[in-house]
Amino acid sequence: MATLKVGGEVDAQCTRCKMNLAHTILAMVGPKIVRVRCNTCGGDHAFRGTAGLTDRPTKTAATRAPRAASGTTRAEKVVISFDDQLAGKDIASAPKYSPKDTYKVDQVIHHPTFGVGLVTAVRGDKVDLTFRSDTKTLVHGRGGVPVDRPAFSPPTNKQSGPADKPMADLPPEEEASAETSLPSGD
Ligand SMILES: [Zn+2]
Repeated sequence: MATLKVGGEVDAQCTRCKMNLAHTILAMVGPKIVRVRCNTCGGDHAFRGTAGLTDRPTKTAATRAPRAASGTTRAEKVVISFDDQLAGKDIASAPKYSPKDTYKVDQVIHHPTFGVGLVTAVRGDKVDLTFRSDTKTLVHGRGGVPVDRPAFSPPTNKQSGPADKPMADLPPEEEASAETSLPSGD
């Protein structure tokens, strides 16, 4: 590989012939060949180097082609349908969702808005529920009756009555913060 220059010859992958063939260099940018003409088919195309030798190997064909090969069997990624997930579950006796109840993974509940849902995760007072069209995170265990609370709920989550309200619902105490942020000025 000595001097490559416009008008010279170079072996390159021809996009039409689909093989490595002698090409005439049509354009170069610095030391890089950017455009060539196939000596075999006469077609102009971007320089792609010889197969397997370029810094950008044309392995898109290898990674994307299998779709055509295995197109009839679609066994690659089977997503378990919502109905399959609910198969074997006792949907008929699924309890109505209530934030006061406590749920556990794999439990089926009935939500008044979203319909039948499957509990897929429990994180403290939150439950992830998979519904037919969506996945929702809802609260549970807000009844204040720790009868059925999961053992792994965080111990800091003390439910001591009405003080359990989220802070966001409370108006910001501007007086207090303003007072503390002002310099005392002595
Ligand atoms: Zn060609």
